[in-house]
Amino acid sequence: MKKVVKFGGSSLADAGQFKKAGDIIRAEESRRYVVPSAPGKRHVADTKVTDMLYHCYELAEQGEDFASALGDIRSRYEEIARGLSVTLDFAEEFEQIEKNFSAGAGKDYAASRGEYLNGKIMSAFLGFPFVDAADVISFDEAGNFLSEETNRKLQERLEAMDCAVIPGFYGARPDGRVQTFSRGGSDITGSLVARAIHADVYENWTDVSGFLIADPRIIHNPEVIETITYRELRELAYMGASVLHEDAIFPVRKEGIPVNIRNTNFPDAPGTLIVEATCRKPKYTITGIAGKKGFAALTIEKAMMNSEIGFGRKVLEVFEKHGISFEHMPSGIDTMTIFVQQDAFEEHEQQVIAGIHRAVEPDEIVLESDLALIAVVGRGMKQTRGTAGRIFSALAHAHINVKMIDQGSSELNIIIGVHDRDFEAAIRAIYDIFVNIQL
Ligand code: ASP
Repeated sequence: MKKVVKFGGSSLADAGQFKKAGDIIRAEESRRYVVPSAPGKRHVADTKVTDMLYHCYELAEQGEDFASALGDIRSRYEEIARGLSVTLDFAEEFEQIEKNFSAGAGKDYAASRGEYLNGKIMSAFLGFPFVDAADVISFDEAGNFLSEETNRKLQERLEAMDCAVIPGFYGARPDGRVQTFSRGGSDITGSLVARAIHADVYENWTDVSGFLIADPRIIHNPEVIETITYRELRELAYMGASVLHEDAIFPVRKEGIPVNIRNTNFPDAPGTLIVEATCRKPKYTITGIAGKKGFAALTIEKAMMNSEIGFGRKVLEVFEKHGISFEHMPSGIDTMTIFVQQDAFEEHEQQVIAGIHRAVEPDEIVLESDLALIAVVGRGMKQTRGTAGRIFSALAHAHINVKMIDQGSSELNIIIGVHDRDFEAAIRAIYDIFVNIQL
């Protein structure tokens, strides 16, 4: 059995957290490939090392004195190393970093040092060899990630290694210049390593006990999702639920490798298992609920629109011309409604309305703003009758007006549009009916 274990920033924020990670790794012989993030926050008011590095590099770029900012970063690592009784030549490492900062190595290089140095410490702490991500994670000259080349390089390098520490978040372009993924990108590195070594499981250790059924800022103490499919996760992530970087799913998905989200502070909790498919029945009809505020809906009315060929295309072309992507498009016989993100739309609002008038000569255009979309997601909905009915009666009982309903043809999700001010109450009503009451 081979496992890739990725530890997030809060799991490696200080020596105490590092020790927990070490205990977890040593508890199972299969946990052999370790992907660390940079040290995260030790408490709410703390600053992540990645942010300290960005700030420090900004000073360097502006020609200001960055010695003290770099000194603060060095102190964080020295403290971790001291707490773990690990010796590392920080003088040499930081001399190099300082030199590269002065020479304009780039902000990606700067940020990557967070993971790089944590990787060095982890490698010394565990006695596992260190593999620099710059040698095995590839981007092209323009900065696009090269997945197949990376897979090949990782395979070649890791094939003969029983264990390794590979820092997360970064790789390099062909000229050796360091490039990072977007924020939170260590999750992607873990997934890439899991794919390359054909891991049995990709364990992603963080500070929550898994993916929650609903947002804990809205639902008090929501339950953890035990098993979720990649597709369900995509639906929820798209609606704003986040534990894992969005792009982290694709590499493991290619190989059908399960991802297990685990909590470093509660290592005995089973966490959430993310899989391609499963016979495991979901505990409830719904797997999760997520949503976002800040949408606008533009409804176009025109008698006999349904028989006008190309009507939809002409309307969508207007949005396309202004670089606005649409989220949902419920339609009726003589109406068609386009849901868009309000802030992106607002800038072009009047041009879009005028454009639609010119393109399709509608009878009327009605614009509604401050809407929220809520996705109720669950593979269990396919086998259950009356799911939509339960959702709508719950919302009716809570006196919430439903503006839009859209059930995906996969029967995996139902999207509901409500007014922004009803957003939280709607989520509570749906959670209640499926999880608390379980009719
Ligand atoms: N350290 C990076 C960040 O703060 C990457 C990561 O933690 O995954 O975004």
